[in-house]
Formats: sequence, structure tokens, C-alpha cells
Amino acid sequence: MSLVTIPVAPGVSCIQETGVANFMRCNIWHVQGRDCDLVIDTGMGLNPLKQYIAQSTDKPLKAIATHSHFDHSGSLHEFDCRLGHKLEAEAFAAGGRDAVLFKGAWTEIDFICPQRHGDFDRQTYSITPAPLTGYIDEGDIIDLGDRAFQVLHLPGHSPGSIGLYDLKSATLFSGDAVYDGALLDSHPHSDKQIYRHTLERLQRLGAEVIHAGHSPSFGGEKLDEIINGYFSGQNIMPDVKEWFAEFQANENDPYANQNWPESGC
Ligand SMILES: [Zn+2]
Ligand SMILES: [Zn+2]
Repeated sequence: MSLVTIPVAPGVSCIQETGVANFMRCNIWHVQGRDCDLVIDTGMGLNPLKQYIAQSTDKPLKAIATHSHFDHSGSLHEFDCRLGHKLEAEAFAAGGRDAVLFKGAWTEIDFICPQRHGDFDRQTYSITPAPLTGYIDEGDIIDLGDRAFQVLHLPGHSPGSIGLYDLKSATLFSGDAVYDGALLDSHPHSDKQIYRHTLERLQRLGAEVIHAGHSPSFGGEKLDEIINGYFSGQNIMPDVKEWFAEFQANENDPYANQNWPESGC
């Protein structure tokens, strides 16, 4: 099994697929609740995820996709309850390589370690269709019994990107709207103008803990820094292929497990 679990906060764990290029590795969040648990994003589908999570809970699982990109929606099909934004409903339902892998463009990059995933084939890799069983949108509340999340529509990176915000603990699950790294605003369905509004909104939100779609969690000050970096043109993902070539040249092991702070965030 190429999955690891990182305990991050009480009732919140980050699950990661291993043997994946560091910057591509999606955070799969398992949030435990009194009445049900949430699985926020599902990785690339390299491993049976539901079975893995079932080892640590007996609660019903609601899978929520922050958006349809392949690194977040790969194992969504395994879950009976699949929630996401209706603006990306067609992509979730289609799966495959066109809509969620941008006609396979991402597979031009060696984002999977060949030694660790011997049976992975970049030419045929595709996402299993996972039609949504329900839509979530701005203002909806996801209630776990002992904690509740407000759904935020955070378009820009993709049209149907959503975040989940727990106002009581000022904790945001942000998907790819923001993470601690160079932000991506150049997908065919990205919208830079709308993304700007989303990021301005996130700066005003007052979130103190951000559990993002990639990389370790961070706090409010860092959030500001990341977004201001984007606004000043410093923190934007350049050409992905070039970036990855540079990354491979500079890292001993681009697929190494990530270092998360001991105490989480
Ligand atoms: Zn994305
Ligand atoms: Zn992503």
C-alpha cells in the first residue's frame, strides 16, 4: 500500500500517496465527526483509498472533491457519497484523460516514481468516472454533528473549486485555491481575473489554520504572504515542464515523502 497517514490536528489527518512527485502530491484529508466523517479530495487513484480509510473509522463517509483535477479526483469513484460543485459535474462524470488530465498533458511529466509504482503507465493512465451524487455550493453547511463546515465557492484555479470553512476554529480546507507553493492559474479553464477575487476574499476571511490541497498546512500570516506573493507576480507556477525539469535537477529525490511539522498545524 503506497499510502501514509500524517496526524495533523485532533480528528484531522492528512493521507498521502507515496512515490509521487512532491509538488503533485495531493493532500487527502480525513476529518472525523460525531455522525459521519469527511474525505476531502481523493488523490490520483493509485491505491484503494476507501478500504484504507475504513481501517480507521466505522462512520459513514462523505467524499468531497474540492475540484475535478486528476490529482484530487482519482479515487472519488470508490465512495458512495460524492459531493462537488456543479460547474465541474461534467468533468467528474467523464473522468478519463481529456477533462481532468487536460488531454493527458500532465502525463508528459514523470510525476510518478517508476521504481515505486512499477505498473503505472503514463500513456494509459486515466481517471475512473465518478459522477457526483450531490452538488455543494456557496453557503451550504456540511454538519458532522460536532463540527460544521461552510462551503465557499472559490473559482479561478478551476471554475468549480470549493473550500470548506469551520468558522468556530477558523480552519479552512482550501483545495488548490491556495496552498504553500507556486499557484497555478494557467489551466485551460482557469480564470486569472476571477482567481484574483477569490484570493482577495481569502485574505479577508480570517482563517487561522489552512489545510490545503498540496504541501503542509500553514497559518494566517503565511496565507497573506502566499497571496501577496502571487499578486506581486512572484508566486505563480511557470511552465510546468520546465519547472519540473529544474526540480528534478535540483532535488536528490523528487518523490521523497514530505516533511510535516511534528506537532502538525
Ligand atoms: Zn488543481
Ligand atoms: Zn492539485
